[in-house]
Amino acid sequence: MAQHIPHWIDGARREGTSGRTGEVTDSATGEVVGEVALASTEEVDAAVAAATAAFPRWRDTSLAKRTAVLFRFRELLNDRKPELAAIITAEHGKVLDDALGEVSRGQEVVEYACGVPSLVRGGFTENASTNVDVFSIRQPLGPVAVISPFNFPAMVPMWFFPIAIATGNTVVLKPSEQDPSAAIWMAELWKEAGLPDGVFNVAQGDKVAVDRLLEHPDVKAVSFVGSTAIARYVYETGTRHGKRVQALGGAKNHMVVLPDADLDLAADQAVNSGFGSAGERCMAISAVLAVGGVGDDLVARIAERTRTLRTGDGRKGCDMGPLISRKHRDRVESYVEAGEQEGAKVVVDGRQVQPDGAEDGFWLGPTLVDHVEPHMSVYTDEIFGPVLSVLRVDTYDDAVGLINRNEYGNGTAIFTNDGGAARRFQHEVEVGMIGINVPIPVPMAYYSFGGWKNSLFGDSHAHGAEGVHFFTRGKVITSRWLDPSHGGLNLGFPQNV
Ligand code: NAD
Repeated sequence: MAQHIPHWIDGARREGTSGRTGEVTDSATGEVVGEVALASTEEVDAAVAAATAAFPRWRDTSLAKRTAVLFRFRELLNDRKPELAAIITAEHGKVLDDALGEVSRGQEVVEYACGVPSLVRGGFTENASTNVDVFSIRQPLGPVAVISPFNFPAMVPMWFFPIAIATGNTVVLKPSEQDPSAAIWMAELWKEAGLPDGVFNVAQGDKVAVDRLLEHPDVKAVSFVGSTAIARYVYETGTRHGKRVQALGGAKNHMVVLPDADLDLAADQAVNSGFGSAGERCMAISAVLAVGGVGDDLVARIAERTRTLRTGDGRKGCDMGPLISRKHRDRVESYVEAGEQEGAKVVVDGRQVQPDGAEDGFWLGPTLVDHVEPHMSVYTDEIFGPVLSVLRVDTYDDAVGLINRNEYGNGTAIFTNDGGAARRFQHEVEVGMIGINVPIPVPMAYYSFGGWKNSLFGDSHAHGAEGVHFFTRGKVITSRWLDPSHGGLNLGFPQNV
């Protein structure tokens, strides 16, 4: 029987009252396993009201006490992450190992946030002017919203909320309506860790909830991750309503393979990064650029490896799971068909897959498409599925030109044994996250995650120092306690002496 997936407001589960619900499916069976509440504007207002009421006390809670809660949350998460991974697999479909990996990378941000006392430390200048001291502090913003996509229901929210909470803000999370249960599990974990009610809230929902968060006068900032069209909309709407917004969008990530590269390494990593999580990662490699004649050899090695992959139910130890929905699966398949019609060659055909899983799962096997040209939709569009395209280019410059002309700039990788070429690449390529012989260069929690061009709207990347900066605002205080002889009346602009 489909279970009801509620909101989480002011420290408790809240059943939906809007009368609107969304179906949540198990992607590996096609069965409806949940019915998620879709918030009305009033329900979003209730979540924001809880966050607003909790803010003054949480802001004034000492760093020592806030940090103690964060450490407890980290310990509980670390002990119980297999539970969260199982929830992710049951709704999203990614294989269990991959779901565990997602939780672990999210946990790294919690660990980073445990160091909040040193992250928000201000500066102090004694005697900036005679007997005048100047110092700076950073303060939280207030209630902030996190709006997340389906593909990382635990990790992407954790890019933001540990830092938002650690720095003294309160949070309303609006998860993807396609896999909403992870958010409730995390909310319960926060409660167990001792976080006061109202500091972390979950408003389940769709566009109605997003629009209300973007307009609500008490929401001070929005961290969004999703597709480019919605990211642009969220950025424009949120900033128009006076909010600080970071909106991370879609991607088309290229892997450049130079002729001197270790082709076995490149082939392994093309397969891992192209087909891991069924290609539903914003850092997945979707276009391999084979430079200067390595194409045939490289494609043969990638094809050989791709054919060994087992697609099936994520709970059965397979390599790759299903796609998130039937609609998305069909859309991904349509790109393979379009590529074929435009003259590309399907070398490994995922449409023929024999999955180890239920008949009604949303299956599409790993698909390798060769001789792709830059004008084909299989190249131009973000597919977000297990489809790896290979394009042949003559030179390194052709490869970089193609990447730099692409509308997206999330991640990219180069495979080479030439340090000079790698150094040129990291300098010249217009992309936010670069891998050198590393295919999915997702930065550590203490660096910041973010793309360029249509992969990110706003100026702050996620987590690391930029995350701390995003969730705080600066104050500079100029003070004088000694020397009461301040010179009497003087209407001139204050000068430092
Ligand atoms: P999506 O844009 O459909 O949804 C993202 C969020 O926006 C969800 O919470 C959804 O409920 C909400 N939403 C959807 N339509 C809306 C609308 N019309 N108005 C207001 N809100 C709306 O994205 P998705 O399919 O859940 O996730 C996949 C996308 O996310 C891909 O494009 C992927 O590249 C991107 N992504 C990017 C990153 C990154 O770091 N840049 C990370 C993960 C995923």
